[in-house]
Amino acid sequence: MKLKYSRILLKFSGEVLMGKADFGWDMSVLQQVAEQVKAIREQGVEVAIVVGGGNVFRGGQVQSKSIQRSTADQMGMMATVMNGLALRDVFESIGLKSRIMSANAVEGVAEGFNANHAQKCLASGEVLVFAGGTGNPFFTTDTAAALRGIEVGADVVLKATKVDGIYDSDPKKNPQAIRFSQLSYSDVIQQNLQVMDLAAFALCRDHAMPIRVFDMLKDGALNRILLGEDEGTLVTTGD
Ligand code: UDP
Repeated sequence: MKLKYSRILLKFSGEVLMGKADFGWDMSVLQQVAEQVKAIREQGVEVAIVVGGGNVFRGGQVQSKSIQRSTADQMGMMATVMNGLALRDVFESIGLKSRIMSANAVEGVAEGFNANHAQKCLASGEVLVFAGGTGNPFFTTDTAAALRGIEVGADVVLKATKVDGIYDSDPKKNPQAIRFSQLSYSDVIQQNLQVMDLAAFALCRDHAMPIRVFDMLKDGALNRILLGEDEGTLVTTGD
């Protein structure tokens, strides 16, 4: 069967990896994520991942005059490296070839990101985990996902969240909330829908990079997306 995408950029927030825990990692979630990635790798899909760090540390949390925001953000970027290392090992533990690349190399821990090298690694079947965000303070890992997706020539940015798509109102508060199956970039702006932060969204829009918001922990969701089924919400140019 022909799959809809051959190279994807998956974005997990730290919150997804935290599962029901208050901090850090829920190992059963990491395992579940890895099994889903393995299932699509076995169908030949090339997988690059951008991982957040909010389950460990967010720069904006620091309310101290003694620690500068840019330093706090560097700490946040280090948190994403911790998540990336965990993911890399869980992937390898189930037989996937995997590599971590960080925006800023961490000697002896994670090599630096290089788009050309990354594309070659993806083509050879490695699952790549991009950590360290964009490498710059005042950005988010959503922006890193948009950026890396464009840089490695992914067909789509798949943003994994705890909600299975974009709704017209908060589905946790309103049981009548309706999920959009497809939206255009301008619909998102006009209706002020929360998809990604503005910098990330603008990058995707300007480069016509489709974004799909979905729930990674919903059984088989990733596979259904690859088969072109109605899963989550797809944001495109709308043409
Ligand atoms: N961060 C940053 N620059 C980046 C990406 C991340 O400074 O390009 C820092 C920032 O402090 C952020 C933290 O890393 O709060 C964790 O990233 P993010 O909040 O995006 O993680 P997520 O919410 O996806 O878990």
